[in-house]
Amino acid sequence: MKKKITLTILLVGCATAMVIAAGQDWKSGIAWTKPPIVTPGEKPGDPPSDAIILFDGKDLSSWNKNSWTVENGELTVKPGSGEIQTKQKFGSVQLHLEFATPSEVSGRGQGRGNSGVFFGNYEVQILDSYENETYFDGQCGSIYKQRPPLVNVCRKPGEWQYYDIVFNRPELKIENNKVVEVVRPGYITVFQNGVLIINHHEIEGTTFYHLPPAYEAHEPTRPIRLQDHSNKTKFRNIWVREIPDTNQKPEQTREPYYE
Ligand code: MG
Repeated sequence: MKKKITLTILLVGCATAMVIAAGQDWKSGIAWTKPPIVTPGEKPGDPPSDAIILFDGKDLSSWNKNSWTVENGELTVKPGSGEIQTKQKFGSVQLHLEFATPSEVSGRGQGRGNSGVFFGNYEVQILDSYENETYFDGQCGSIYKQRPPLVNVCRKPGEWQYYDIVFNRPELKIENNKVVEVVRPGYITVFQNGVLIINHHEIEGTTFYHLPPAYEAHEPTRPIRLQDHSNKTKFRNIWVREIPDTNQKPEQTREPYYE
């Protein structure tokens, strides 16, 4: 008897599912907003229409100081003058940046073509890692002292290379200037020369060189910084897009339904 009832329920269930599948769509009930229209750049690497241009070869007007050299559309580190940082502060972003380590090779390890792009406290390393050994979590494309790149896809010294980076800022609960809770860690994904080298790395904290990583109190939005590590690394075509934090869904306005 019990078996018969179970079978009947099963059959009715299957029949219902077939009716729904045949004629109806499932709707999430979430009131999504319409995605805005963005015009992509003409060529790969060109900024799309909603990009904020940080360096287009002309000047350093988007940066806090102009001590680095701008010549022939290129920005070159002026060794000893210190890092530069954007005037604007950013949270989560997509960043495109082109760089070339010095064509004249000198030094070795961390001393060769070293720079870096910092999202607040978190550095994506820039280094001449073409036939230049160093510790793996410090080579080009690493999240400094936290994660080596998946592969070494560096071009030769002096050749232009590019990063496309997705940075999702961490959400930190701060009391008395101390982090009391990491509500949500930050994440970084990096493509170098079109190749995925860092896949959604969970940031462990500030990328110190002399300490293990640890989260420090900071504002949700911070300037983007380029490092002066005493090497004449060059940059061009730097742009950024602000992106929403995480993939939070809007409020559910009604239950899911079939239509
Ligand atoms: Mg560096």
